[in-house]
Amino acid sequence: MGTISPGQVDVLMPGLRRLTAPNAGMMTGPGTNSYLIGTSEVAVIDPGPAIDSHIDALVAAAPGPIRWILCTHTHHDHSPAASLLAERTGAKLYGMPAPEHGMQDKTFKPHFILIDGDSVSGPDFELEAIHTPGHASNHLCYLWRETGILFTGDHIMAGSTVVIGPPDGNMYQYLKSLEKLKSHPLEQLAPAHGELLPQPMAVIDWLIGHRLKREAKVLERLGQVDEADLHTLVRSVYDDVQPVLHPVAERSLLAHLEKLEQEGHVLRIDERWQVGRAGRGRA
Ligand SMILES: [Zn+2]
Repeated sequence: MGTISPGQVDVLMPGLRRLTAPNAGMMTGPGTNSYLIGTSEVAVIDPGPAIDSHIDALVAAAPGPIRWILCTHTHHDHSPAASLLAERTGAKLYGMPAPEHGMQDKTFKPHFILIDGDSVSGPDFELEAIHTPGHASNHLCYLWRETGILFTGDHIMAGSTVVIGPPDGNMYQYLKSLEKLKSHPLEQLAPAHGELLPQPMAVIDWLIGHRLKREAKVLERLGQVDEADLHTLVRSVYDDVQPVLHPVAERSLLAHLEKLEQEGHVLRIDERWQVGRAGRGRA
């Protein structure tokens, strides 16, 4: 699908360029998209993994000096190039640092820690940070106000649903973060993986519906047995997904179960799951 090709600079509109890192894979699709915004002075969103050729290509693709580097979150395909690109260009780093625990990219040390509603402005743009926890607790989307383009990072990807892996990933927050986006004036979505997505509201509604459908299936299948562990339950709930992907799906299944647990619909006893009384009413 599409025209994405690593190393190729795509001018998506005046003042917006996309350069995809050479890190295609099962979890990254065609590779991580780095976006360059502005012409006289440039902001980069998600400089990507620490690959020298990609950093060289970002510097070459920028129509003006790179002054701002923003990261959507600190997974290893998004932020490790940030400090290297900052050293090369003198640009300042923006975003949220990696959480203390876990395996995220701790080399990303923002000069400016953004919170929900903060803006980063250049001569040609204003980017508003929208905190969207779910895929990662420190995930930010960036709304380019003048165009209505939302840089979605891994909150929304083109061509696949995103992995919600507890403990840092949280399905309850993920769905809340999707709802939250609907209050913003969005024209297009620019994901970190895959092509631009038109019709943002339809995409967001589809994603919410898709997750809730899966959640209903979790309750239904769990209701058919007394109790189950993740490993058994994943085969039944994700019977539409290739078995090779089941280890990854197990993470999302756990996220669904934890949301249902938080809402009182299921019970966890010694890492085995069963439908609670409230859940039986719903199933
Ligand atoms: Zn990613």
